[in-house]
Amino acid sequence: MNIKKLRFETRQIHAGLNKNENTGSRGVAIYPTAAYRFNTCDHAARLFELTEAGNIYTRLQNPTTTAYEERIAALYGGVGALALSSGMSAILIAITSLASQGENIVASPLLYGGTYNQFRHTLRRLGIEVRIAKGEDPADFAEIIDENTRAIFCESMGNPTCGVADLEEIAKVAKSNGIPLIVDNTFGAGGYLCNPFDWGASIVVDSATKWINGHGTAMGGIIVDGGNFNWGNGKYPAIDGPSEGYHGLNFYEAFGQSAFIVKCRVDGLRDLGACPSAFDSYLMLLGLETLSLRVRHQVESTRILAEYLRGHRAVKKVSYVGFPEHPSHRLAEKYFRHGASAVLNVELQGDTDSTVRFVEALELAAHMTMIGDSITVVTHPAYTTHKQLSADDLKAAGVTPTLLRVSLGLEDPRDIIDDFEQAFAKAGLITD
Ligand SMILES: *Cc1c(COP(=O)(O)O)cnc(C)c1O
Repeated sequence: MNIKKLRFETRQIHAGLNKNENTGSRGVAIYPTAAYRFNTCDHAARLFELTEAGNIYTRLQNPTTTAYEERIAALYGGVGALALSSGMSAILIAITSLASQGENIVASPLLYGGTYNQFRHTLRRLGIEVRIAKGEDPADFAEIIDENTRAIFCESMGNPTCGVADLEEIAKVAKSNGIPLIVDNTFGAGGYLCNPFDWGASIVVDSATKWINGHGTAMGGIIVDGGNFNWGNGKYPAIDGPSEGYHGLNFYEAFGQSAFIVKCRVDGLRDLGACPSAFDSYLMLLGLETLSLRVRHQVESTRILAEYLRGHRAVKKVSYVGFPEHPSHRLAEKYFRHGASAVLNVELQGDTDSTVRFVEALELAAHMTMIGDSITVVTHPAYTTHKQLSADDLKAAGVTPTLLRVSLGLEDPRDIIDDFEQAFAKAGLITD
């Protein structure tokens, strides 16, 4: 059977299953092992030289994780995937596999806060410069690319404003400069809402902690290789050149279109060590089986909540990418299938104190920094994700004291509306 011909909903269940496994087990087995026995010394040597594929040590591969990686690669239509222990480690390994000291990458200004910190502080200390584009226009990226640029990085839909990147146009800028476009597709929900490979991206990273896991039970990140980039253009000697870590092996010659994802595993993961546990990979596989069903429900609930909040007297403004007045509405329609987003932002009437009272009065929605969970999450950026920012920076980021981010869960949205209604009353935001 050709998995690639199956539809998304079928792939999310069947890809990665080993039907020849001799127990007949329907479920994917969890392999709680650190290492694997070699058949012979020659066998061990072949595994270590990468001339034969196989399990060596769980930092590099684990059968449960392999099944999960195969499922992710199938969902995205990539040539391979690598599972990591968090979204942040996926970003770090993707970038350090491409850029070295003295080189740079060009990034969108709309970034997840953790990514921004990794770029501005940790990568800088490693000697990799991250140039942040002045705006989201593809020309803003083109303007700051030079001969030392090794990738463009953007988010398909940005945290926290739900701004959408013009993927097709940014991919053209990357292509004309001979560098890959890396897209953080966390909001694209494992490829169900958005698949950046359809628009010319070469590499996807995704925080599996969010929609892929879907139940808030484990951390994880993935890198997916689209297999569409020419690594032989002279800019990537660590991929197309002798590898010091493998006696001069050339990844591009040995692995062709999969060279990047192989390098991420055998150099990046081997050396940085952010491997997932077999149990966490199992939780991701379980989450993936219902990905499309969950996301469809969450997208629909988000629209219902957005409509309830729009025009509500306790609300100053709703920012929802499904509404035509949202600045990214047109791009969301182009790049996001099956509805716009499972996240919205709402600015309440009142002040900081009434917003705190509202958040603390919620009984179903949880106050956490999380998205894509089966529980509805309300986040108060001024008290959490953006707490460290100065008043000026808060203003620039569009974060006001009464702004809340809502990520819809799997509850009946009518119960979430009732929860909001009682919390508005307790906060003193509706008085009659
Ligand atoms: C959460 C998130 C990350 C980081 O992923 P972790 O799994 O928390 O390490 C990166 N990018 C985006 C867009 C995210 O939402």
